[in-house]
Amino acid sequence: MKLQNKIALITGGGRGIGRAIGLKFASEGAQVILAARSVDQVKQAASEISRETSARVLPLVCDVSEVASVEWLFKSVKEYFGRGPDIMVNNAGIAESAPLTKTDDEQWHRHLAVNLSGTFYCMRAALPEMIEIGWGRIINVASIAGKTGGPYIAAYSASKHGVLGLTRSAAMEVAAKGITVNAICPGYVDTEMTTRGIENITKKTRLSAQEAMDSIKKMSPQNRIIEPEEVASLALLLASDEGRGINGQAINVDGGTLMF
Ligand code: NDP
Repeated sequence: MKLQNKIALITGGGRGIGRAIGLKFASEGAQVILAARSVDQVKQAASEISRETSARVLPLVCDVSEVASVEWLFKSVKEYFGRGPDIMVNNAGIAESAPLTKTDDEQWHRHLAVNLSGTFYCMRAALPEMIEIGWGRIINVASIAGKTGGPYIAAYSASKHGVLGLTRSAAMEVAAKGITVNAICPGYVDTEMTTRGIENITKKTRLSAQEAMDSIKKMSPQNRIIEPEEVASLALLLASDEGRGINGQAINVDGGTLMF
C-alpha cells in the first residue's frame, strides 16, 4: 500500500481521469475526497470506489473557479478528516474549441477561471499545511496543449500553459520543504471530454465520428488514445514516496506525440 494514511483531494473526481486517479489512490490505501460540480456524479463515483476498495471516499461539491467554493471545500475536508490533504490533485478542467477570432470573452475567462485559477486556488489552500507538516504532493493535470499550441484551442492551450508556469514556480518555492509539485500532460484520453470533442468535430466538419476518432488516434505514433488508468498510474508514482525525486516536471502521457 503506497498511500497508507494519506488524504488525497482530487478535483474533477466525478468521472474520467479524476475518477480513475481516485480509484487508484483508494486501492493504495489513501482516504480520498472527490470534488466536482455534479453532486450525483461525485456521490456515485465515491460510493463505487468505496465499495470496490473499502476505502473512505468523501464526495464534495465544489466549483474550483469560485474561490469561496474552494474555501468551503477545504473547510469541509478539515472538518471531516481533522486536517487538510497530503496529496492535492488539480484535475478539474474544461475544454471548448473555437477559432481565436470567435472565442468570446466568456469562453476565454471560463477556461482561465476553471483550468488555471481553479488550480491556483486549490494549491494556495493546500500548501500551508503541507509546509507545516513537511510533506506534500501537488499533481496538476495539464495537457500536451500546455506545451504546444493547436488550431481552435487558444483559450484551452493558454490556460494549460499557465498551469505549467504555476507548477514550475511552486515546485521551486517548496522544494526544500518535503513537497513536490508536478504536472501530467496527457494526449487524448478516453473520457467524456474527448467524446464531446469528437461530437464537435462531426458538427463542424464532414467527418463521421469514426473518422474523427481515427484522426485523433493518428496524432499519436502509437495510433491510439490513452486510457484514464494510464494517467492514474503516473499520478500514483508522483504521489508516492518513490516519486519524491521528481519535482517541477511536466510529464507527457501521450504515446510519444510530443517529445519535449
Ligand atoms: P471530463 O470532462 O470527463 O471530466 C472533467 C471533470 O472535471 C468532471 O468531474 C467535471 O465535473 C469536473 N469539472 C469541470 N469543471 C469544474 C469546475 N468548475 N469545478 C469543479 N470540477 C469541475 O474530462 P477528463 O477526465 O478528460 O479531464 C480531466 C483533466 O484532464 C482536465 O483538466 C483536462 O483538461 C485534462 N486533459 C484531458 C484530456 C483528454 O483527452 N480527455 C487530454 C489532456 C488533458 P462537473 O462538470 O460535474 O463539475
